[in-house]
Amino acid sequence: MKSETIVQWHALDKDQVLRLVAADEGGLKDLQVQERLRKHGPNEFKSVKSVSPLELVFKQLKSPLIYLLAAAAAISLVAGNLIDAAVVTVVVILNTILGTIQEWRAERSLEALRQLAAPKAKVRRNGRDNEIPASEVVPGDVLILETGARIAADSRVLKSEELQINESTLTGESQPVFKHPGRHAENQALADRDNMVWMSTAVTGGRGKAIVVSTGTNTVLGEIAEQVRTLERDETPLQRRLGELATKLGVASVLLAAALFVLGVLRGYDVVEMLLFSVAAAVAAIPEGLPAIVGITLALGVQRMAKRNAIVRRLPAVETLGSTTVICSDKTGTITKNEMTVTELWVGGKTYEVTGLGFDPTGEIHLQEGAETSGPDYSPDLKMLLIIGGAANNARLIERENGWQVEGNPSEGAMLVLAAKAGYDPDLFRISHRRKHEIPFSSEHKYMAVLNEVKGQANSAIYVKGAPEHLIGFSTHMLENGLTVEMDESRRRMVELVGDSFARKGLRVIAAALSEAGNDLETLDRSKVENGLTFVGLWGMVDPVRPEAIQAAKSAQEAGIRVVMITGDNAVTASTIASEVGMARSGVTPVTGPEIDNMSDEALARHALETGTFARVSPAHKLRILEALKQSGEIVAMTGDGVNDAPALKGADIGIAMGRSGTEVAKESADIILTDDNFRTIVNAVEEGRVIFGNLQRTIVFLITTNLGEIMTLATALLLGLPLPMTAAMILWINLVTDGACTVPIGLEPRHVDVLRRPPIPPGEGILDRRQILRIVLLATLVGTGTLSLFVYYLDAGNVAKAQTVAFTVLAAFQWFYAFAARTTQISVFSAGLFSNRWIVLGVASAIILQLAAVHTTVGHTVFHTVSLTLGDWSLIIMVSSTIFILDEVLKFLGVYRTARKSMKASPR
Ligand code: ADP
Ligand code: MG
Repeated sequence: MKSETIVQWHALDKDQVLRLVAADEGGLKDLQVQERLRKHGPNEFKSVKSVSPLELVFKQLKSPLIYLLAAAAAISLVAGNLIDAAVVTVVVILNTILGTIQEWRAERSLEALRQLAAPKAKVRRNGRDNEIPASEVVPGDVLILETGARIAADSRVLKSEELQINESTLTGESQPVFKHPGRHAENQALADRDNMVWMSTAVTGGRGKAIVVSTGTNTVLGEIAEQVRTLERDETPLQRRLGELATKLGVASVLLAAALFVLGVLRGYDVVEMLLFSVAAAVAAIPEGLPAIVGITLALGVQRMAKRNAIVRRLPAVETLGSTTVICSDKTGTITKNEMTVTELWVGGKTYEVTGLGFDPTGEIHLQEGAETSGPDYSPDLKMLLIIGGAANNARLIERENGWQVEGNPSEGAMLVLAAKAGYDPDLFRISHRRKHEIPFSSEHKYMAVLNEVKGQANSAIYVKGAPEHLIGFSTHMLENGLTVEMDESRRRMVELVGDSFARKGLRVIAAALSEAGNDLETLDRSKVENGLTFVGLWGMVDPVRPEAIQAAKSAQEAGIRVVMITGDNAVTASTIASEVGMARSGVTPVTGPEIDNMSDEALARHALETGTFARVSPAHKLRILEALKQSGEIVAMTGDGVNDAPALKGADIGIAMGRSGTEVAKESADIILTDDNFRTIVNAVEEGRVIFGNLQRTIVFLITTNLGEIMTLATALLLGLPLPMTAAMILWINLVTDGACTVPIGLEPRHVDVLRRPPIPPGEGILDRRQILRIVLLATLVGTGTLSLFVYYLDAGNVAKAQTVAFTVLAAFQWFYAFAARTTQISVFSAGLFSNRWIVLGVASAIILQLAAVHTTVGHTVFHTVSLTLGDWSLIIMVSSTIFILDEVLKFLGVYRTARKSMKASPR
């Protein structure tokens, strides 16, 4: 296989290349693909290696906790204490199994996400264009290259229409390179081989076709064996911070345990017993589960988000999501459905109405006054408009079982539907018009143009369609009743007025113009298009607002999040749609691209937050809006779909790419991909981000509170010179069994109704803010005091074993009650529904059953040195331990934990 890389592909003829890879331009057949996949392997090189279960087991065993426990087991053995040694061993095994299972689940769900976010490629196979996972591309595949595509494998260019490639991933050079078919000398440097395209580079303009010559590790990139662009296995900042916290607490616990040991020995306790006891105390204090719990909670949250159509590509984004203060969203396709229908036309001075909605080509074209035009006998002006729409077009209208569909750009699809309604066969435009060249649509220039050889016509035709303001500017003439007349001031005014009236109805307005060229002209350039055109007419198309976007915009507002609509459409259309969705106060005019150029950053940010709508923007403006907002302290989520959106997607706190209409480049630059392109999903994702943050907070608060409570109990008992309140086995049990049964369920807490009624989580606010630290200290003190008081009370009765059993059980019971209370911070548990988290019910129920077994069975008695308790003992235990629930609820009621409501910035500074 190595020979593949030695072939000088760039120095061969096209035919030689085709012969060598045994393929033709029609693409491979399925059978060939199978065979080649087997021979060459998948087109990928693993950089994110998947973790095996065995590795996870070792990971569990590598924790300092396990070392401590192993030491404890060894000491017990040496001291001849077989039961304790067995208990410790069982605990270690249980802990390892549980940890492995949980992390394995988390790992699987992240792996599944990675699959969802995997890059795609468009190839020609079996004579048709197919979108396939880039990993399935094989040598001999014909790649279809369109603006925004990521090159899936090293390939030789077969065809180029202004094909421009950004090769910075390979060469570091950010200037795009034009690619052409054709053969080169052998000694050409890699960067100069402009008949080759390389894996991982991006199409930034134009279109083309290329044939794959090498894949996977045989590519240039594969040989350098660099990064791949799948989900990063980054630790999130939170994970890192919590990891550090866990380490610090761990070190403190070990020191504390050592101090306890020394203290105990000085007070004359048995040395071996004291050793075991301090190891158990250290285990109690180390929040060993912390990093794992964070990882699991994040992974499960991210899985929930995927179910709600948001695929997270970078885990750290999840943490930022909950703090989002501004969502900057595209209009077309995100807030609207991107299901265009031409409903009005203006051409030759007359307005027409079109009936029929959607892509089904049944409907009629009427003169607006109601005068019916009969059959295909339309005015020559109208015909011209229909022809331009049909010929300056890259979409396809297809009838499927579930109705008519458009492949390609929906605006262009709508023009085909219109032509079909007038009796044209949309497929015939390709035959009557042989396209010689195209200047593709770009959101900077806002028009597209084609140069066509027209059947039965001596001259070639240039057809242009795009934003009316631009085309009016390019036009010197206008078509009227089949004649070309001068575009004077009054006609110009007329066109503008009509365009405006369409836009006021919320229609997207596109204009058509034409010009002629000699038949010898083979390529177009912008100077030919931007001057001397004959204006033909206007299409007005509806693009229905997504009904769910209205509700979502409202939720966002309630959640203290500003929604900013950014569109390439014109200002009037934009503002009509914005007020339809309820995003903009009526009467507020959107800021347009040209205005942005003359604005300071401060003014720009203010306008973004006040008017909430930008129109006629280009991708560069998006970046400026983003930066202005970030400057003024906002946490910005921004959507994008094109190649040119990549910088904005990378720069945003949360970059959101469209899964359906988005380009590969946009998807790879994003933190999150929306599989349904829906604005609602963005708001859902923010909501889910808040839920995940909340669940992390709950779990961590729970874990630290209970650990601190135990430590306080043990340390105080030793300081006071009391007998040990619990055996080592009891302490281990509480930490690994009771804790374990409660913490994971807390991380699974479902979202509460109020998460979107609260202001965004202040960024940089640690999970443990002042209020939560206060909560931990107060409740842990309660746990310590409660447990010790009961212990002392029973000690006075003279039965140490019974006192220990009670202390053991009350400590466990404190956790049962707190597991319920810890589910909420701002609202009462009762308003969230006491049993609404069935995992907690399940977890606590199993903890109770296990505790009963530990206290009331002979096995329990032998292992833990417990004695059976009476109903009276149990009542006392429940009375004391339930105080934690009551105290926590009272503190919630008093608003002790309430985050200060940042006044929702109506008008920022
Ligand atoms: P957005 O996606 O924000 O709605 P676009 O950048 O796609 O905006 O479009 C901006 C303008 O460019 C549209 O208002 C329309 O006038 C014009 N336009 C859009 N799509 C096409 C196309 N396929 N061909 C020609 N002009 C187009
Ligand atoms: Mg668009």
